[in-house]
Amino acid sequence: MVGAPRSAGMREFGYQRFNSGMVRHLSLRTAGELRVMLVQNAVSDAYCSSGYYNFPDLPMADKDWQGADLVFDIDSKDLALPCRAGHTVLKCAACGAPFLPPDGAGEGPAACPGCGSPRHDSRSLPCRDCVAGAKKEVAKLLRVLGEDLAVLPEDCAVYFSGNEGFHVHVDDERFRGIGSGARGEIADYVAFRGAVPERFGMARSGAAGLPEAGEAGWRGRVAAALLGPKSARPRLVREAKAAGYGAFAARLAGLQPSLGARIDRNVTTDVHRIFRLPGSLSGKSGLAKAPCGRDLDGFDPYRDACLVDGDPVDVVARSPVRFRLRGRGFGPYDGEAVTVPRFAAAYMICKGLATAPPRPPAPAPR
Ligand SMILES: [Zn+2]
Ligand SMILES: [Zn+2]
Repeated sequence: MVGAPRSAGMREFGYQRFNSGMVRHLSLRTAGELRVMLVQNAVSDAYCSSGYYNFPDLPMADKDWQGADLVFDIDSKDLALPCRAGHTVLKCAACGAPFLPPDGAGEGPAACPGCGSPRHDSRSLPCRDCVAGAKKEVAKLLRVLGEDLAVLPEDCAVYFSGNEGFHVHVDDERFRGIGSGARGEIADYVAFRGAVPERFGMARSGAAGLPEAGEAGWRGRVAAALLGPKSARPRLVREAKAAGYGAFAARLAGLQPSLGARIDRNVTTDVHRIFRLPGSLSGKSGLAKAPCGRDLDGFDPYRDACLVDGDPVDVVARSPVRFRLRGRGFGPYDGEAVTVPRFAAAYMICKGLATAPPRPPAPAPR
């Protein structure tokens, strides 16, 4: 169930309906007003700003920005996981047929096997590995926020984004008033982007003060990753010194994907962005932007964010990829009429992989 977020009266709201554009710059004060907006407009997607304004319903330049939550976006599609090609479906822009990309092509060029059109868009049915990979990035992010920036766990809300990843909303007054530039620095910090050797005791003139295991922050993490366990340290330090500045810089850069949290920097720096409203369903999946709670490992979006009921409904399903929801497997389907739980029908329809069955012909007029 969707509730009004904290300080709702200072936030901008927005929504989308199926197959139509975005409506934004709306102001709502209460959960009741929010429900009226959702119901009256039959929205497919609901959004709310991370920012606070004195006049949320005015154009951006006149809103009078007062601050924003610090938000991080982690998306499994940015992780370049090898599983992705196996659950990407292309949908022909000309005839609408979904089809699997030719071997190894992923989301690249491909012709529709039905009509030959080269135009298509792609949609992914993320698998368990995608979810696990994104969770790993969330865990890295939370660790750095907690250990290095003293963000309290109770000030971090982790949500399944509703489709392919996770949103982390940090509500900590220290960050509320900071602008885009400072948010970019925090984004680079948690991502371990742009680390310079000098910070880790390696200068062009030589090494002095290489990090020790057990040091706080990135120095400690780099020591553990580069200079190894205690027994190996003297040798590894000798080797690092001998290899010199350029080699050290390259090794630091090489650590970035494994040590840093892979976040979308543009999301964190945008202080005017509207985000999917917590608790609402995503029109791209029919799954909810659901809070993950304290047990991120135990959270399964295909169970815990699948909130549509399970009443049987009839659809014509064309999902070349098998998927699992609420512990049940579905598909693959090749254009057949099937009866499935409503949550599975919603998932496929939102992915563009199922349609309502043709209506029976109307009785002939007498
Ligand atoms: Zn086609
Ligand atoms: Zn996957």
